Amino acid sequence: MNPILVALDVPDAARALALADALRGAVGGVKIGKELFTAEGPAVVRALVERGDRVFLDLKFHDIPNTVAGAVRTAVATGAWMINVHASGGAAMMRAAADAAGDAAARLGRARPLVIGVTVLTSLDEAALADVGVTTGVMPQVLRLAALAQASGLDGVVASPLETAALRRACGPDFTIVTPGVREAAQAGSDDQARTMGPADAVAAGASYLVIGRPITAAPDPRAAAERIAHTLAAS
Ligand code: C5P
Repeated sequence: MNPILVALDVPDAARALALADALRGAVGGVKIGKELFTAEGPAVVRALVERGDRVFLDLKFHDIPNTVAGAVRTAVATGAWMINVHASGGAAMMRAAADAAGDAAARLGRARPLVIGVTVLTSLDEAALADVGVTTGVMPQVLRLAALAQASGLDGVVASPLETAALRRACGPDFTIVTPGVREAAQAGSDDQARTMGPADAVAAGASYLVIGRPITAAPDPRAAAERIAHTLAAS
């Protein structure tokens, strides 16, 4: 299965659908984040699902359990294949999210989406984490939140490439690890992603899925770029 999830970080549905149409079959799914969702709402998710895309709805829910459960039920109704919540919302919130996903999917007669936890945002370094009161360091906090996510019934976590190998060891072979920050060697350091890894190395470290945005979407020929990365993975 193609592990590439392309980040449709564009401001409107027309551009998102055009990109998805151009990439269908060359990637394993698409990721919709807060920018596109805030502009276009669930209609863009439904449109992509109807066209046959697996949609990762990356809204990173973080609220009291009852509110997150309601958001998850609504997300399931869009047909999203993967959704996520902040693991720092706590065990009860994650359990509510997992239960709501299962209940809503059963009621609608469709497969339960994967429910993934965000551990520590990759924009936070040790100092920024200490500012919000977490003084244990990034890696111990990532591992702690991943263990809590797993114990709370989530299917996996989002993690930076540098954390992937430790997470795979700690959480076992069946835990889903979604890894952004993937760059081919020639592109490393060319944008705001500081902690990068090549696609084949990220999969070798244990990533289940690679979230890749600009290396594909900003390429002169996005489909050719996706096919080149998929080929690199198939050959490794
Ligand atoms: O363009 P690029 O490949 O950097 O896109 C990566 C995508 O993954 C973006 O949508 C970004 O918001 C998302 N992401 C990330 N790092 C995280 C979580 C999500 O880069 N820790």
